[in-house]
Amino acid sequence: MSREKLPHIALLSKVAVDLFWCPNCNVPLISIDKCSRCGERGFPVKATPPRDVRPAFEFDVQQLRGLASTELGIPGKYVDKLIPSNQIILLNKVPYPDVADEVIVGGKVVAHRFFDPVLWRWRLKPVYHGVAAMVREKVGYYAIVNLPKLTRGYEVHRDKIVECELPPYRGSFVAVETSDGRYQAVAIKTRGQRIKIVKVWPSKDYSSPGKCSSIDVAIEANYSRLRRLESRSCIFLQTLKDKMWGDRHFFISFSGGKDSLVALHLAVKVLDLRDVVFNDTGLELPETLSNVDEVAKAYGLRVYRTEIGDKFWNLVSRYGPPARDYRWCCEVCKLAPLVDLIKRVFPGKRLSIIGQRKLESFKRASRSRLSRSSVIPKTLVAAPIHDWCALDVWLYIFREKLNVNKVYFHGIDRVGCWMCPACELGEYEILKELHPELWSRWEEVLCRFATSRGYPEEWVKYGLWRWRSYPGDIRRVLQLCDFDVSRASEVDVVRAMVESPRVMHSGEVLRIELARSSNVSSELVYELLYTFKDLEILYRGDKVVVRYGNYSACIEVSSCYLIEIRGVRDWSSDLEILLKYLLYPNLVPQLCTGCSLCVNLCETGARTVDTLHRVVLERCSRCGSCSRVCPVFRYVTSDLVRFVKLKVLGIV
Ligand code: SF4
Ligand code: SF4
Ligand code: SF4
Ligand SMILES: [Zn+2]
Repeated sequence: MSREKLPHIALLSKVAVDLFWCPNCNVPLISIDKCSRCGERGFPVKATPPRDVRPAFEFDVQQLRGLASTELGIPGKYVDKLIPSNQIILLNKVPYPDVADEVIVGGKVVAHRFFDPVLWRWRLKPVYHGVAAMVREKVGYYAIVNLPKLTRGYEVHRDKIVECELPPYRGSFVAVETSDGRYQAVAIKTRGQRIKIVKVWPSKDYSSPGKCSSIDVAIEANYSRLRRLESRSCIFLQTLKDKMWGDRHFFISFSGGKDSLVALHLAVKVLDLRDVVFNDTGLELPETLSNVDEVAKAYGLRVYRTEIGDKFWNLVSRYGPPARDYRWCCEVCKLAPLVDLIKRVFPGKRLSIIGQRKLESFKRASRSRLSRSSVIPKTLVAAPIHDWCALDVWLYIFREKLNVNKVYFHGIDRVGCWMCPACELGEYEILKELHPELWSRWEEVLCRFATSRGYPEEWVKYGLWRWRSYPGDIRRVLQLCDFDVSRASEVDVVRAMVESPRVMHSGEVLRIELARSSNVSSELVYELLYTFKDLEILYRGDKVVVRYGNYSACIEVSSCYLIEIRGVRDWSSDLEILLKYLLYPNLVPQLCTGCSLCVNLCETGARTVDTLHRVVLERCSRCGSCSRVCPVFRYVTSDLVRFVKLKVLGIV
């Protein structure tokens, strides 16, 4: 295990939900082991942390039942034994290269549902109590084997199988039990009548399907938990009001998602607040836009919307598709319009009420309920439902009968930009069904980009555009698909449409020559470099000479843009930073998105909309905010630095 992962794991177990199950009411109990409805003690649910579970809705239940038949061979009339249609079923996200959830029935994990990127379909793998149900009830694909024990990877031959119903296809899952009943396992069918063990455990008990249950029963069972959470959130908001109401503009940030809906509901209830900001990236689902209108009407809200129209679509041809490690659109389509809007509408100090929860990500887990915005000046961010889990949110939404976004009932669990590179292939598959026209538009962009770069069609098909460098688990999946990763990854160094620089490294001198941008001058170079306080500027005139760490460098703007760095013995992080600084002034004039982030984040007025790239030196405090937040600096210069590095190291 890598060292970087260790703090994440510690944080994860710290925030994990204690999930129990009432055997009497057959519903989950969140963080309490005593049922508010019947008083019965619950048993712990042994699901994978952080257990931020959500209920399976009708769409999910139908899909699970369908998969139980098609994937596990369970005849329709017996499907209830694994996936009952009259009980609460929970889904719990688990790590996997694509979408994957544990399926919890009766408080026990019975299966994993996942999107298989190799076979390109949704699948269901029986585990633990699901395997127990299949082997004891003898439903679906199962095998009883005459072996004293089982080990992972072992291939069981036909003569050791004493009773079975095996699937016709290789790779299908089979529930397995030893004939003495001591071990259970899940296996896959291999050649002939053989099965290969995938995972083994000491046998789990089988209990026949529990009694009928519903969301309403779960709300009653968690009555005290919900009341306590609601009251804590209300006190938190009331305290903010008491301390800051006259001093700051309060507003609600609403995304059209379930969490921000609950935050909004609480803010209206406690603060009687009606000012709402909705950040429309131009990539929102139609259901989200409708939900914002409906919620606004129901609560009588004043909604301030950012409007950027087709900006994303106009810029994607210059910047290339965004990736998880290349999120230029977050600055341009989200942050910039948001900063612009709230500075105009809420001048002075502000407090934004948001629906963030600590269980959503490691980053959010490390934040507190009230924090200072890391990017927007004079802005505090308050998260009243920071401590709620997803199930709390759902139970509260149903209890209060809130008008939640309909996309959740179509299998989509994440509201936001519908083509976001953070999504998984399984999520895109759902989107393709729901809004084929949206996906076609995006696919066209991807195909055009892939063709222009000579990338193989798998680059689009397997969603490889979502990364600049592929993580290990994705590389392994690609190997299973017989895809040579190097065909797309090593060449995908610079996504934006910029000419590759000429790189010459000789002795300790590194020379980089770029096509000169039309509006770049040595004055502009000086002004933009001036924003970086840690850069020592030694001379400005026809050239600009600087020093950074052990390096000295000179930029000359003539027919080309020439960078010369001295003292380059080997590659270092200081050299990378210096290169980023030096490349930036030449890239800004050609790639500026006009987002105005630099202007809006400059607190001294040294950047203005009229002279976007220029810096009024007398006013500049050299804080660096304007340049560091600029998408050209954050993404394109980083890419070019990577390109230069690969050149210097002789890799490209
Ligand atoms: S698509 Fe994803 S990366 Fe781009 S703005 Fe939306 S959330 Fe950010
Ligand atoms: S220079 Fe300013 S307006 Fe242009 S992309 Fe950068 S931050 Fe946006
Ligand atoms: S944000 Fe303003 S003060 Fe800070 S470096 Fe940029 S121009 Fe100068
Ligand atoms: Zn109960």
